Amino acid sequence: VNFNVSILGSSSALPTSNRYPTAHLVNHDERFFLIDCGEGTQMQLRKNHLPMSKINHIFISHLHGDHVFGLIGFLSSLSMLNRAGEVHIHAHQPLEKYLNDSLKFFDSNLNFKLVFHALSDKGFTMVYEDKKLEIFSFPLLHRIPCCGFLFREKPKLLNLRKDVIEKYDIPNHYRQRIKMGEDFVNVNGDIIKNELLTLPPAAPLSYAFVTDTIYKPYWAKFLADIDLLYHESTFAHDDLKLARQTFHSTAVQAAQMAKLCNAKKLVIGHFSARYSDLSVLQAEAAAIFPNTYLANEGEKHVIN
Ligand SMILES: [Zn+2]
Repeated sequence: VNFNVSILGSSSALPTSNRYPTAHLVNHDERFFLIDCGEGTQMQLRKNHLPMSKINHIFISHLHGDHVFGLIGFLSSLSMLNRAGEVHIHAHQPLEKYLNDSLKFFDSNLNFKLVFHALSDKGFTMVYEDKKLEIFSFPLLHRIPCCGFLFREKPKLLNLRKDVIEKYDIPNHYRQRIKMGEDFVNVNGDIIKNELLTLPPAAPLSYAFVTDTIYKPYWAKFLADIDLLYHESTFAHDDLKLARQTFHSTAVQAAQMAKLCNAKKLVIGHFSARYSDLSVLQAEAAAIFPNTYLANEGEKHVIN
């Protein structure tokens, strides 16, 4: 199963000549999820040859322009590409009126059905589920209501050992049941215990998107053992005061969060345009959490 995240925008409010405002595309088993949709997101999708028509769910962390300004353009382009079916938007309630008003204002009749889901500010909430994946939202602490998102694979099936299939002559229709934990009963009625037939499943993988927020260690317990943590790091730690005033985090705090979560890998982003050289941010985070990467447009992070 493919599980990866493409960075489409890594800048905070003010874009730079080579950094776009926030957007991530998550691919889980060829299902595509867009998180935030800053200005330029549709161009970034095209430039990186990502399948924009396959996006069924869009999650918007909060209603600041640098996370939303690309949405109307994205939706109207989707419609021009003759996208049909449903597109689901998960965002704070006020966005619904803005979307409807804007589409009406520009006389845009979308070819597809836009389905709106209001995010909750009350704790950890499941917002999406399929056979293999669950997505949760959880409130962050910013100047306006803001949510982080956790993508977590469901527990996987046991692995059926190749050597036992022949040995016990296990028919095709029985294999799935064994992978789900059943013992095997052969034609003579002999019971072969499941533990003789299977190996433990691969661990479920997870990815969390945490922006925009002040440092909130409380959430670490919900993100325990996260495989990939994306955490905003708008400022360097020298600017901690500014980070607090604007309800943002520093690179040091992002690294502290990764450590608290026992994360495998940290990607920092949402950089303030004041830093032309981001190596300062990378260095201060890596001093606390060595496996830290800077978010860069067009880069794909594989979760494994
Ligand atoms: Zn922002």
